[in-house]
Amino acid sequence: MADPIPKILVVEDEPAQREVLAYNLEAEGFVIEKAATGDEALTLIAEAAPDLIVLDWMLPGVSGIEICRRLKARDETRDIPIIMLSARSEDVDRVRGLETGADDYVVKPFSVAELVARVRTQLRRTRPASIGGQLEFEDIVLNSDSHRVYRDEKPLKLGPTEFRLLTTFMEKPGRVWSREQLLDRVWGRDIYVDTRTVDVHVGRLRKALCRHGGRDPLRTVRGAGYSLG
Ligand code: CA
Repeated sequence: MADPIPKILVVEDEPAQREVLAYNLEAEGFVIEKAATGDEALTLIAEAAPDLIVLDWMLPGVSGIEICRRLKARDETRDIPIIMLSARSEDVDRVRGLETGADDYVVKPFSVAELVARVRTQLRRTRPASIGGQLEFEDIVLNSDSHRVYRDEKPLKLGPTEFRLLTTFMEKPGRVWSREQLLDRVWGRDIYVDTRTVDVHVGRLRKALCRHGGRDPLRTVRGAGYSLG
């Protein structure tokens, strides 16, 4: 079963700082990955993209700025929110001036509460269901706190896999997801599942969504995958 919990990559070369960040974000319920260098970070990101990156500016080897630039230049990683950490506010001005594409900036020393708030702000934008709350698409309403789904105000019965599939679709309406991407997101990377399993569960989700009538909101994109709307 997949992890619906957002995964945050903490990139910081200073061990004490890295541990404090990891510890506190973990305490907030996030899944944490840690990297001490830019190269290590790039390797981890290539293996499995995190949902957000907390990125220190000053790193040995590949700098935070360079990592940020590279990630924002590639389609596959462009949408991962990046919060840059820097030692001085002048650095932040410079980072902004460099147009690295970072989504937010925090100046050291910062309070953990402040950083957590900024992490949540970014995830509210990119993974809204993962931090609680409601997603809406046309007449479909998904509440991730109560795990309930309604269509045209009527409750729908969804299995756990169909619920995660719908959450994924509703977080990014219009995006075309390949079967492999859905497997990664909904079932998890470490589990071997045949891609046809995706078709089976999308079929179940379709049936559940249309139980009380209404048009099928899921689109099959030939040779590409599925999208909502
Ligand atoms: Ca550093």
